Amino acid sequence: MPEQAAARLVIATIRTMDPAHPLAEAMLVVGDRIAAVGPLDAVRAAAPAGTHEERLEGVVLPGFIDAHAHAQRAGLKALQLTEPGADAEGFLAAMLADGDADPDAPDWLGDEPPTIDDRVAAIRRVQPLLHELGFTGVVDPAVTLEELDGYREAHRLGALSMRVVAMPYPELGTERTPDVDAALALLAGIDGATGDGDDLLRLGPIKVYYDGEGMKGQALLERPWAGDDHGVQRVSAAEFARLAAACIRSGWGLGVHAVGSRAVAEVLDAFEAAGSPAEVEPLRCQLIHAYLEPSAESMARAARLGVIASLQPSIVWSNAAGLAVRLGERMEQVGPVRAWLDAGATVALGSDAPYFPFDPRHLVAMAADRRMRGVAEPVGADQAITVLEGVEAYTRGAARASLAEGERGELRAGMLADWVLVDVDPAECSAGEFRAARVLRTVVGGREVFRATADS
Ligand SMILES: [Zn+2]
Repeated sequence: MPEQAAARLVIATIRTMDPAHPLAEAMLVVGDRIAAVGPLDAVRAAAPAGTHEERLEGVVLPGFIDAHAHAQRAGLKALQLTEPGADAEGFLAAMLADGDADPDAPDWLGDEPPTIDDRVAAIRRVQPLLHELGFTGVVDPAVTLEELDGYREAHRLGALSMRVVAMPYPELGTERTPDVDAALALLAGIDGATGDGDDLLRLGPIKVYYDGEGMKGQALLERPWAGDDHGVQRVSAAEFARLAAACIRSGWGLGVHAVGSRAVAEVLDAFEAAGSPAEVEPLRCQLIHAYLEPSAESMARAARLGVIASLQPSIVWSNAAGLAVRLGERMEQVGPVRAWLDAGATVALGSDAPYFPFDPRHLVAMAADRRMRGVAEPVGADQAITVLEGVEAYTRGAARASLAEGERGELRAGMLADWVLVDVDPAECSAGEFRAARVLRTVVGGREVFRATADS
């Protein structure tokens, strides 16, 4: 990251997401970290003489972290589908139009796969667009070896302004990685394991698919979709258990695509067998999507094991009309974010960008008002969360999924100065007001990476 800023004192309404001190008046930033947060007098007293003070209209929050954004692929798509001067709104519209046209469209439209230079260009292109939406970090949830090279090269060049947690994707079941042994051999060739890296680029858990897609009726469900159709299982329970045990022994967490109730339960069985909570929890294992009928018992087990629920309200929102046809009255309980929170699990919100909507303001609103595309009435109002809980899952929860609790996701002394200024207060505004909020400024490590212009 370029040169560090000098000491600066910010005066604003600050929602810290620190449960011990949720509200503050001022924040002192020295270099890339927060030196003090709290009442103005106390923060002033901690500031070096001559510190620049700035009074901001609006509310300061920790920077948003998307716990599930294919950021590099979004960048490749942005290079192809948007004009160089496009803003975040144009970028969002282009991505969503493309995703709706063909969700399985390749990320690269040309004949040749992207070069490393293309990948660095993609990262450079997408970062400012994401900063404009208030993002200071992402978890990229399925990073091939080529994508990992792209991130590492961007980091080497000093081109990362977004904090990236890369989840290596061994592509289990493909020609290159036909089985668990091949996947383990591939992982052994990656320099490092889960948690290794620095504040800008860190290795996350690996990505594995356990079941199919909910929208295709292929999530693995305990109660069948219809007849005796329980959905699609993409890896056997025995093979997955072998993979999980070997990964956890060698320092790799697992983030597992597990949409349906049976997938969620069987993944938890494997985690439980692979190690004690003290061994599993630090690796930030994740249940990814987990939106179709996870049992109360599964949610409680995940909380006990320290397994994170990485949830994407955008997927439920996008697929609601189709799911309603398949599920009938069972639809009311899709995307049970409330139940996950109440079970005591860490919920990390994300989007599955660029394939689904990824504006964090919209996703928080979706989780809060349960209004979904193509469905007239709110769906399952008892699964609604508050706007503030949504913001917490996009900051504190997603930071935990980023192996960065204690560094990010809250505004506390000693933590990285990653913050965003918005024009509404999530503790007081409605879902609709949060959806319409303006992002006024985004700061990563004390350095401004986005500032709204008067007319934007
Ligand atoms: Zn995804």
